[in-house]
Amino acid sequence: MKYTYKRGFYWLFVYLLLALIPLIVAASGNTPEHRGFWMELGVALGFIGFGMLALQFLFSGRFRKVAPTYGMDNILQYHREIGILAFVFVLTHPVIIFIANSEFLAYLDPGVNLMRAVALYFVTIAIILITASSLWRLTFGLSYERWRLLHGFLSLAILFIGMIHALQVSHYLEPIWKKAATGATFLTYGYLIIHTRIVRPWLSRRKPYRVISGNPERGNCWTLKIEAVGHRRLDFICGQFVWLTIGATPFSLQQHPFSVSSSARDKTLSFTAKEMGDFTASWKDINPGTSVFLEGPFGSFVPEKGKNIFLVMGGIGITPGMGMLRTMRDTKDPRTVVLIYGNINWEEITFREELEEISKEINMKLVHLLEKPPEGWEGEKGLVSRDLLNKYLPDNPEDFMYFICGPKPLMDITEISLRELGIDWRLIYTERFKII
Ligand SMILES: Cc1cc2nc3c(=O)[nH]c(=O)nc-3n(C[C@H](O)[C@H](O)[C@H](O)COP(=O)(O)OP(=O)(O)OC[C@H]3O[C@@H](n4cnc5c(N)ncnc54)[C@H](O)[C@@H]3O)c2cc1C
Repeated sequence: MKYTYKRGFYWLFVYLLLALIPLIVAASGNTPEHRGFWMELGVALGFIGFGMLALQFLFSGRFRKVAPTYGMDNILQYHREIGILAFVFVLTHPVIIFIANSEFLAYLDPGVNLMRAVALYFVTIAIILITASSLWRLTFGLSYERWRLLHGFLSLAILFIGMIHALQVSHYLEPIWKKAATGATFLTYGYLIIHTRIVRPWLSRRKPYRVISGNPERGNCWTLKIEAVGHRRLDFICGQFVWLTIGATPFSLQQHPFSVSSSARDKTLSFTAKEMGDFTASWKDINPGTSVFLEGPFGSFVPEKGKNIFLVMGGIGITPGMGMLRTMRDTKDPRTVVLIYGNINWEEITFREELEEISKEINMKLVHLLEKPPEGWEGEKGLVSRDLLNKYLPDNPEDFMYFICGPKPLMDITEISLRELGIDWRLIYTERFKII
């Protein structure tokens, strides 16, 4: 998938249009008498903030029409940053209104209206909690799964209470068609989370997979090979990833993203995981025959036809690259590949032997970069740097696509250095495994 300015502006326009729907509805038709700039600004921020919050379900919901364009990591990064902005709008909404007209402080008085006051306090606390737990999940000691559950629950609650609040206050939502349009907008977005968490897993039950084998790999990794049961396996482009659930049911909090590391030519699918926490640690105990459910494929981390490939990968970040290289080997792809593969030491290089073999079968330059090289090592050592990248950059850099995947420092340095070396940003693709 190509990045272009045109596509960027298109999505920005679509985003603004969708986010502004509640405000557009409120401001159309006959509107009540103007109550002064600050008052109207406060109200507008509420509508805009809630419109943006509602749209968040679209970004976190892995909808394939949205996700492939920019890559899941970028979409989730956007979701995170725009979420903070939306919460600022929503929290500023009452503050400006209270300053503009202190009579509205009565909304916070349980003695005036208990339910309304409780709902507003709840939303305020929920917004603070959702932001803090997303920014400092590990400080709160929250596992990813618990955080995800809390995040989903609080988001739905905020959306629901926000909708009831807008309909109850109703100042801008008369006549009834405005109420109906606002309610329908919020409910449509609310449904997206139900679709993601319930409908989609339910649908994936129809296309189960089962584990055929599990094998250890260098670097404390484990590969699972799976096959489709009673259907054709999903079609994917090398470099893409899926959401994977292992066990009897697809309704599990343990649903994790993994790049397909097998060749697109294989009938089976392989995934290789590095032990990070409870889910990845459990892989070595998974028996053949265990059920697996997949959702996907996703991702724009895919090479285009006709372009050569420059890979900068570190540790387990090799998995999407492995999918590309295995596919190239199996299809006798004549394109040029440069792989700079960073690891701590020689023993822990995942897929080391297979990479050596592939480098002889396709037109590939394999560069190992070791942080702690063995005695007598004559290859590259240390961390990735601008000078190192420059050394291996091809003479025709515009004929290549650049794929970066690995630990954050490797990714950040590579991305910045490639730009500094004059590589067009539209040719640089990243896949970040750790999003929050
Ligand atoms: C697009 C993509 C492709 C990936 N491909 C691979 C791969 O091929 N091989 C591999 O080893 N790892 C891959 N990962 C990372 C992998 O998903 C996490 O390492 C795994 O989910 C960790 O789970 P855990 O319970 O073992 O560890 P934990 O200690 O629970 O998690 C470690 C970190 O992984 C991330 N993570 C955990 N659970 C989830 C989740 N449900 N959804 C999203 N992120 C989560 C969080 O950033 C967390 O801090 C990929 C991640 C992404 C986003």
